[in-house]
Amino acid sequence: MTTQEFSVPDKKMGELKTQNGREVLFNASANSAATGNDGLTGQLFNAGLGLPSDFNAESKGKIALIKRGGDLTFQVKVENAVAAGVAGVIIYNHEDSPGPLSFNVSGDIKIPVGGITKSSGAALLTDVVAENKTVTLNVKELKNLTSSNIIATKAPEKGGSNEIMHVSAHYDSVPFSPGANDNGTGTAAALELARVFKDYKLDKELRFVFVGAEEIGLVGSKHYVDKLSADEVKRSIANYNMDMVATAWDKATVLYTNTVDGKPNLVTTTANEVAKLIKTPSTLFLFQRGSSDHVDFHRVGIPAANFIWREPVTNNLEPYYHTPDDVLKYVSSAKLKEVANIVGASVYSLIRKK
Ligand SMILES: [Zn+2]
Repeated sequence: MTTQEFSVPDKKMGELKTQNGREVLFNASANSAATGNDGLTGQLFNAGLGLPSDFNAESKGKIALIKRGGDLTFQVKVENAVAAGVAGVIIYNHEDSPGPLSFNVSGDIKIPVGGITKSSGAALLTDVVAENKTVTLNVKELKNLTSSNIIATKAPEKGGSNEIMHVSAHYDSVPFSPGANDNGTGTAAALELARVFKDYKLDKELRFVFVGAEEIGLVGSKHYVDKLSADEVKRSIANYNMDMVATAWDKATVLYTNTVDGKPNLVTTTANEVAKLIKTPSTLFLFQRGSSDHVDFHRVGIPAANFIWREPVTNNLEPYYHTPDDVLKYVSSAKLKEVANIVGASVYSLIRKK
């Protein structure tokens, strides 16, 4: 097993706490200013929708609490707040969502800026604004960050071929989401397959690639593929990628095999044959989609596909996707088993010792 470390871009991490010690989920905007180590402590000012007329002499030096929506963009709300001399901006959502509001502003923003949920906004109006209490806002800039790919390799039997099979799953998740389905499930399936495959005699090299930093733009898989030599690329026969393979959402009844060009390849045709052979209950559906770690394998010409459950016709993903609700309760062990069976049997059919 090897670990492959790589750099990832700087990022902002925000924390928001009320004077009473209540933690509020806060999503710092990418362009937010960082605060000092002690954070910014201040009173909140209810700045309505963030119109110029929503500010007055009292808003100066306070942290503006602004509602999303109305006619103004996030950018204009923040600019209006800055022009009014506030010390920070918190925008709360106007619709319910489990995770804090995420938005970006451009330009040289000199104050901390970020988003919270609708219910957090309502709570702050009641227990901080109405009682003239304070909040502490902490935004840190994290620099020199790294992530890692973890690669487990099983060599072929003596006299086997020099071809390589790549099975991948990313193990990172997005902020404020536990990542049970995205992608604890793909990681779990790959781990289980690695456990099972260790006792099988193989004719080709099998690599399990546990990928870091997928969620910030497929950074880990790009690094892995870029580090393959031209010879390794030539010897690579396929990439089976598993990302969100076990949602319990009842509408996601079809197992999508996503390829970058929407065309079938060795991965999808083998999976279809195997699914028929082992009589898995669900339908497989070929779909054109990138957005996961199969993209870079495809880029260098390796047949690659991602396995993911979606709602047929609409192609929707589960509603828990990238939210704090992506928890074990919404993971289906039956679906996990089905994908692991299809991917495992497909991989085995392509690399077994004959
Ligand atoms: Zn994912």
